[in-house]
Amino acid sequence: MEIARTVEEARRIARDWKKQGLEIGLVPTMGYLHEGHGSLMAAARKENARVAASIFVNPTQFGPNEDLARYPRDFERDRALCEKMGVDMIFHPEPEDMYRSAQAFVDIGLLADTLDGAARPGHFRGVCTVVSKLFNIIQPDRAYFGEKDAQQLAIIRKMAFDLNFDVQVVGCPIVREADGLAKSSRNTYLNAAERAAAPVLYRAIEHGKSIIKKGMPAQTLISEMEKVLAAEPLAKTEYVAVVDAMTMQPVDVIDGAVLIPMAVRVGGTRLIDNFSLTPER
Ligand code: AMP
Repeated sequence: MEIARTVEEARRIARDWKKQGLEIGLVPTMGYLHEGHGSLMAAARKENARVAASIFVNPTQFGPNEDLARYPRDFERDRALCEKMGVDMIFHPEPEDMYRSAQAFVDIGLLADTLDGAARPGHFRGVCTVVSKLFNIIQPDRAYFGEKDAQQLAIIRKMAFDLNFDVQVVGCPIVREADGLAKSSRNTYLNAAERAAAPVLYRAIEHGKSIIKKGMPAQTLISEMEKVLAAEPLAKTEYVAVVDAMTMQPVDVIDGAVLIPMAVRVGGTRLIDNFSLTPER
């Protein structure tokens, strides 16, 4: 496994692979890896001759009052997991090397202004910018993203299409703990009581799945799921929404493919989760 610490090194390694006609799968991450990231790497390993994983806590996707400085980091542990998953190159650049005095950013309109984008202004601009840079540096054939960040996945698909990136964007299912909590690097912020409360998001999802029906007003589903969340005193719901799975715009009545995303604060930690489906009846 090679470790590229600069843009130049990563570009050189990826170019070399390309010259040999080897297909590249890219897994962008912010590190502090868990089995969710591992599942992306496993998918990439299956479908590509070479796998690159980036480990980069991207400053431009954090707001001024967010957790950039205290975001968990453990490169040695991450390196071991990458090795185990058969990653061929870790790209682990310094923010100064990635951004220097950058003035160009990638903005995506409507899709990025709702839900997490509304709660975190500038977040998706930072995500789109760093992912564009990674696509340009590594030139992957396929790039792997988790459905846990469903809005991010939809935005990256749209960005890749709109900007003609020659890359296939692959979505991978949410990996959960045994009690249903979606795995996340941020789960490490939870204290014992908060960790015990956190599976309420999954319980709300299970409840939502059990009652969702074609023709149901979105608000009925939202209220039902909010009731489950409200029963947990440590949880504070930021939003539960029913949106079109492609456009992220709210729907009034559940009909075609819908995404039901939520953001909930448990103690000081903001957790997100979602489910998506096309109700049959
Ligand atoms: P992050 O390091 O949190 O930026 O995540 C890097 C990638 O891993 C993103 O595409 C996430 O959607 C994905 N990911 C994070 N957690 C999970 C999970 N529990 N299941 C599946 N994918 C995940």
